[in-house]
Order: sequence, then structure tokens, then C-alpha cells
Amino acid sequence: MASALSDRLSRIVKEMRGQARITESNVTEMMREVRMALLEADVALPVVRDFIARVKEKALGQEVVGSLTPGQAMVGIVNRELAATMGQGVADINLAAQPPAVILMAGLQGAGKTTTTAKLAKHLIEKRKKKVLTVSGDVYRPAAIEQLKTVTAQAGAEWFPSTPDQKPADIARAAIDYARKHYFDVLLVDTAGRLAIDEALMREIQELHTILKPVETLFVVDAMQGQDAVNTAKAFSEALPLTGIVLTKTDGDSRGGAALSVRQVTGAPIKFAGVSEKLDGLEVFDAERHAGRILGMGDIVALVEQVTAGVDMASAQKLAAKVKSGAGFDLNDFLDQIRQMKQMGGLSSLMDKLPGNMGAKATDADLTRAEKDIKRKEGIICSMTLKERTKPEIIKATRKRRIAAGAGVHVQEVNRLLKEFEQMQGMMKKMKGGGMMKMMKKMGG
Ligand code: GDP
Repeated sequence: MASALSDRLSRIVKEMRGQARITESNVTEMMREVRMALLEADVALPVVRDFIARVKEKALGQEVVGSLTPGQAMVGIVNRELAATMGQGVADINLAAQPPAVILMAGLQGAGKTTTTAKLAKHLIEKRKKKVLTVSGDVYRPAAIEQLKTVTAQAGAEWFPSTPDQKPADIARAAIDYARKHYFDVLLVDTAGRLAIDEALMREIQELHTILKPVETLFVVDAMQGQDAVNTAKAFSEALPLTGIVLTKTDGDSRGGAALSVRQVTGAPIKFAGVSEKLDGLEVFDAERHAGRILGMGDIVALVEQVTAGVDMASAQKLAAKVKSGAGFDLNDFLDQIRQMKQMGGLSSLMDKLPGNMGAKATDADLTRAEKDIKRKEGIICSMTLKERTKPEIIKATRKRRIAAGAGVHVQEVNRLLKEFEQMQGMMKKMKGGGMMKMMKKMGG
């Protein structure tokens, strides 16, 4: 796993300590790292070049004195520029048209057009209280028409029937006529996709565009598509006046560089991001969060992987079962947890994976202290009898002194540990069975 950009820049900065300004020579070296990070995130090469040129201009001669190191300042500049590039434009769907407002969905097969059509229908019904009709112009795949019918019903919208023997243009005319007569606010038009760009497909969708005069022409693109996304985006934006982008499958494990490429090539704003296969898995695109993801700042995914790899699954399951059955969390479990933390390679390796600023706040001295603290806690629990570990409330003052002496610590430390344990126990009681896994999943997303 590649290390986060912030780490790499910090390394360069170590070599140029004392410089208060970003200069031509150090910016070139830093830009090499930024370029690598963007390429690793699957941003297309021409887009990377453009972007680097802009950042370089912005960065040169910038004051970086103050609390930030030049490396962090540079990460800040890159991050802001990424977010600004991806974030311009209006966020929500434009419906400013004589009803029905038509939304035309364009994109390759498998990009997520049908799913996104239903997600948008649900969004417009629930958030904007609109009456929504959907129709499929995909006359090549009967299954695609059926799929739209199914997901439209799930979204609570109405579906306009079409069949493979019709022409897409006729379907479009009939659907818009029906929508007008039945007072629909919005007509969502799903279209045929191909596995690759082809002329006939482009002409067909252009014809649909002329007939439908959509207020929104959305380009649906798979975030996992990587470098290819640029060619697809170029072809679609040359054929159609795109008004927005929907980036799907952002829940996958790509770094999402496609967003930057597609935004730059089409000039259209990224309006939504697909975050799951389910119909409520559509979010307004968050450019800042996405910028962080492209740069791999604070590689949380790697952190979670490390945590789950380090955890002894058998004992984690035993613990989960215990919490679930209400048997209670005792000091033996607490000790298990402490030992697992040690197994994970210590705190310092975990801290390295946290986002730049958070990680930077903990100095080496802090970490050594924290690691020593873990060892002392282990010592304290080991000095207790098994009975005391299962029922810590029986530990009286004299025993506390004995335990402290056994572990070579002050009695206050024993008290502190018992208090901490109590808090942890309270937390565990609140957590039902899968709570811990849920927490990790959240961190991963
Ligand atoms: P179409 O050919 O462009 O209409 O694509 P589909 O809507 O049929 O989607 C293709 C596949 O991608 C399906 O299995 C969808 O469930 C899946 N999919 C679409 N959007 C998302 C998303 O945001 N996240 C995930 N995980 N899967 C998605």
C-alpha cells in the first residue's frame, strides 16, 4: 500500500528544514510526489499535467511560515485545489423547466445508469416532493427495461412501458406525451449503454436529446473506471451538452481519481455520488472529502485493514458473543484487548496512518509514553487474581496496594485503570453484538 501523500511530502520537507518559503527547487521535488499520488489514484495523465501546472503556480513563493511546515502547507494547497476543481457548480438537480422537466441519463453499460435513475427518482420524490415518471430507451436489452421497471417500483415512481421492437425516438415522444397529460413533474430517461463508445450509440442519444430537450443531461460514470474514464467522458461530452456528472460506486476501493479527470474533461459539475447498490445509496457529491480520498490522506482503509488483521478473530468473536449474551465484559477481556493492541504493531504504526495533522500532533515521546502505559496496565491486571479480574468490585484497598506493589506502580494507577475499565464496560453494554464491526465499516467508508 502506497504511503499517504502527506507522509511523502513530510519526508521531503525534513530535508529542507528551515526554509520558510516554497521555492522553485523544492516545489519541483514535491510536485513529483503529488504527480505520483494522482497517478496512483488513477487520474488520467493529461489531467495530472494540467493540475500540477496550476498547483505549482499557486504554490510558488507562498509564505509557509507559522505553525505549518512547508510540507503540510503544500498538502493544503493541493487539497484545496483538488476540492475547488471538483467542487465548482450547482449541487442539486435543476428542475427549472416547463413540466415535465426531462432528465436524460447517459453513460456506458454497467456504469450504473439504471440504478442511478431509480435513486434519482427516489431522491426527487422524497426530498423534492415531485411526481416522477421513468422510461427506458434501451431497446437492445429487454432485461434492462425490466430492471428499470423493478427499481422504479422500489423507488415509488411510475414506469412508462417500452418494448424492444420500438425505436428509442418513438419511446421518447410517447413518454413525454404521457408525462404531460398526467401532470408529471419529472421524466427520467434511461438510455442504452454499450461496453465501449460507438458511433451509432452516440447518434441515437443525440437524437433523443433533440427530441426531449432535457433540462439535465447527466453523465453516469463508474468511479472504478480509472484512466479509461477520460476517453468515455470526452466522447460523451463531445456528443452531448452535459449538465452534470454522477459518479457511481464510490463505495468501491478505488482512490476515485476518475472524478477529477471527468470533471476536468467535461467541465460539468459532479452532482451526486453513488455509495451503494441500494436505492438510498446516493449522496450529494462532497468535493472536499473526495479530495482527501484521492490524496490518500490518512489512509483510514489501510488503518482498518491493519486493525482487523491484528485482531485475533476467535477472541474477538468470543467477546462479541459475550457482549451479546449480556454475560458482561470483565478485566480478562480488557486484558485481551490490551494484548491485541500490542500485537497490531504498537501505537506508533497506527498513528502513522491517521490524517496528517492528527498524526503529527503525537510526538515520538507521546507514543513511547502511551506504549509504556499499555505495558503497565497489562502488569496491573496480571497482578490480580482470576476472581478479581471477573469481579473487580471485590478489590478492596489492601488488595489494591498489593496489586500496585506487584505491578511496580502507584496505587493511583490501579484506581485509574479500574475507572477506565468501568467506562469501557459501560460502552460495551451499549454495544449490541455487531457494534464493533459496524464501527470499523464506518471508518472504512
Ligand atoms: P447500467 O448498465 O448503466 O444501467 O448499470 P446498472 O444500473 O445496471 O448497474 C450496474 C451494476 O452496478 C449493478 O450491479 C448495480 O447494482 C451496481 N451499482 C450501480 N451503482 C452503484 C453504486 O453506487 N455502488 C455500488 N456498490 N454498486 C452500484
